[in-house]
Amino acid sequence: MTQFESLEAALKHFFGYEHFRPGQRKIVEEALKSRDLLVIMPTGGGKSLCFQLPALLKPGLTVVVSPLISLMQDQVDALQDNGIGATFLNSSLAFSEVRSRESDIINGKIKLLYVAPERLLSEKFSNFFNIVATKVGISAFAIDEAHCVSEWGHDFRPEYRQLKQLRDKFPNIPFFALTATATKRVQQDIIQQLKLRQPEVHLASFNRPNIYYEVIPKERRSYNQLVNYIRTQNGSGIVYCLSRRSVDETAFRLREDGISALPYHAGMDDRVRSLNQTRFIRDDVQVIIATIAFGMGINKPDVRFVVHYDLPRNLESYYQESGRAGRDGESANCTLFLSLGDLKKIEFIIDQKTDPQEQRIARQQMRQVINYAEGTECRRTMILRYFGERFPGNCHGCDNCRNPKPIEDWTIEAQKFLSCVARCKEKFGMVHIIDVLRGSRKRKIEEYGHHLLSTYGIGKDKTVDEWRMLGRSLIHQDLVDETTDGYPVLKLNKRSWEVLKKQRSVQIAIDKSSNAKAMGNANPRAAEIEILLERLKRLRKQIADINSIPPYVIFPDSSLKIMAHLQPTSLQKFSLISGVNAHKLERYGEQFISEIRSFCQEQKLPVALPSNSPKITLQFYQQGLSIEEIAQTRGLAVSTIYQHITELFETNQPVKINDFVIPVKQEQIVNAIQKVGADSLKPIKEYLGESFSYEEIRLVRAWWRKENE
Ligand code: ADP
Ligand code: ZN
Repeated sequence: MTQFESLEAALKHFFGYEHFRPGQRKIVEEALKSRDLLVIMPTGGGKSLCFQLPALLKPGLTVVVSPLISLMQDQVDALQDNGIGATFLNSSLAFSEVRSRESDIINGKIKLLYVAPERLLSEKFSNFFNIVATKVGISAFAIDEAHCVSEWGHDFRPEYRQLKQLRDKFPNIPFFALTATATKRVQQDIIQQLKLRQPEVHLASFNRPNIYYEVIPKERRSYNQLVNYIRTQNGSGIVYCLSRRSVDETAFRLREDGISALPYHAGMDDRVRSLNQTRFIRDDVQVIIATIAFGMGINKPDVRFVVHYDLPRNLESYYQESGRAGRDGESANCTLFLSLGDLKKIEFIIDQKTDPQEQRIARQQMRQVINYAEGTECRRTMILRYFGERFPGNCHGCDNCRNPKPIEDWTIEAQKFLSCVARCKEKFGMVHIIDVLRGSRKRKIEEYGHHLLSTYGIGKDKTVDEWRMLGRSLIHQDLVDETTDGYPVLKLNKRSWEVLKKQRSVQIAIDKSSNAKAMGNANPRAAEIEILLERLKRLRKQIADINSIPPYVIFPDSSLKIMAHLQPTSLQKFSLISGVNAHKLERYGEQFISEIRSFCQEQKLPVALPSNSPKITLQFYQQGLSIEEIAQTRGLAVSTIYQHITELFETNQPVKINDFVIPVKQEQIVNAIQKVGADSLKPIKEYLGESFSYEEIRLVRAWWRKENE
């Protein structure tokens, strides 16, 4: 700790961030006191930092238990890119690699070790582990995705149950358990199963303020609607569908329509599926179309939109699935396409269930989803209520708060509707009631003699949709009941009678839909920022590809946005940007600044330094770009880049001649120089002939001169 003035200083040093997210600071403080912790934070809350920062501030090694290889890999990549000693051990590694990592650990080069639970508890590992414990010390066990210990959770892993053995073996080492699970039952289970000792429990709010929630009615031509929707979105997105078939079909059609999209579902070949996932994470593809199988094991913080093209199974899954958007805290859209036709599909699936208890629960859960989707209250209030959290509403971040639907008095219509339910003896569903009200000539109506009822045809002035809107609103307001077992039948309740007896008025929210959101930015400064942001993203993607890491590991979207706004053209200014620490500054600073400078130049803004500097070429070279690639990336001529490399040789920079000219050619050029002298290029070129370029000759000459100094 002594090394830093404050926890904030340490945060900036290791991660480049200026501020802690809500809750993080307190948790880090507790962790530094080596107490057991249970941290419950929604996805994107920033759980990892809660054990990573203490790990860096305490002596010894922090062991992180993580359930999936892909998660470990991502986290370790991100840490290493911050210049932090982190590694993982799992079954994907070759024996020699394991040995080398183990020796790094014993030599104290590693502060964070990620392991799968089964390895941690294996006999073989135990010996190694004892050495670690005595030689470098273990500062803590961090159990990520801790809900995996609970059978009540959605992702039970029996291996996690064994973790309590660690407690018995290392009684003095603190346990930090972390999860995004919302249910109390699982939280209790975690404490018991991991034998946590009077843990400090940090329960963060489940509100995700950066997510915009909306529900839109699914039109008949829903595919077109989806395409148009995706075209208005920026960045990566996930589209959830119910069936594998519709996943494949939708992905195929989107590709035909020029949207870069790939499918993901449990029925695919493992290799292809994981390839698709990687391509999504690395931003090679914009949209992934998936069944709910997708998402558990991915850690992509910059998902900008999540669409539920079909209804989710229950509100908890809706929360978790939509929650995969905007983990980086930047704004993100979550949109649910609502079709009551889809409801029939789901009802059909539920009907296939054989266990009546299961069936009842599924029906109830579906009701909650429909209530959410059709509800006119603040969406956050509805979601958080489901998790037992009170939220006052008026969030400005949901469709209902932004465009509240106008409320109208429909008491008379409600009376017509309810009295029709009564006259049909409370034995029919909504469709039939509306048919009677609208005077339909369907055979079924005559069969029941309902064309003779006094309510027959009294509702011709309203459309079927309007009556349905009223009917559903009556259900939500608890002014009529709809049975949930078997065929849904409308039944009157106490409150329905109050309406019929004119003791209660009925207000409903009128859905005029198609509230086209006025977007778009006419501000020229905003447009400029957008363009620069795109360029910075492109640069980030190029660097990421060369290093085989996902783009977000280099800089999160938020950092690029600040860069696009502030347009720093010096390293000093660049270092102040959130997300930039000393390591990243050194590694990427010049390249990003150079991009910003050339952008500013094009915009004819004053620029501090020329963008045409060999130093930037050196950085690109160190990233592994070829001369042609560097030229293309920097928008400079190939000959200019050769010129830079030549200068780099002349100034003794770490460049290797073999990367530019093959040894055989080097030899011939040197040979020629020795024959005709080094002073002038032309005679050397003439001596060597067509197959040698001036650039090559100049380079080798510069290198040769340095070698012979
Ligand atoms: P969780 O595990 O809770 O879903 P992560 O630990 O993956 O969340 O963090 C989500 C994102 O937020 C990551 O990209 C992380 O780098 C970023 N993040 C975490 N803490 C901060 C902070 N204090 N300031 C800015 N970004 C942060
Ligand atoms: Zn709201």
